[in-house]
Amino acid sequence: MDRLTVMPPHPALKASNRVLWNRRAIVARVQVKRLRSMCLAFSGRGRKRYDYLGPHHLSNGKVVWKGVVACAKMLNWLKVSDTAKKRMGQHLLGHYRQLGKKAPDRLMEMVK
Ligand SMILES: [Zn+2]
Repeated sequence: MDRLTVMPPHPALKASNRVLWNRRAIVARVQVKRLRSMCLAFSGRGRKRYDYLGPHHLSNGKVVWKGVVACAKMLNWLKVSDTAKKRMGQHLLGHYRQLGKKAPDRLMEMVK
């Protein structure tokens, strides 16, 4: 796998709970360059749609709660280095905190 770049934790406004989170549809309809601000990480130079991992923001930057939860589950089986996992976990933990949600124990273990 190419070098992985993990996006640092960042504050974001919360998307409405009424937003339907259809990861594939949302990722498919945005320009590739927008994915950088929507995902947890990308491999290589992030030029291709499939370089991106863990979308959880809308293209307007708002964070989607269901997307955060899905990303946290994905981290359990993702085959990347422990360092990359830890950094992705820290990004997600930031969103759990800003949304006032309790992070799952496995995520807390990952970021230690
Ligand atoms: Zn984020």
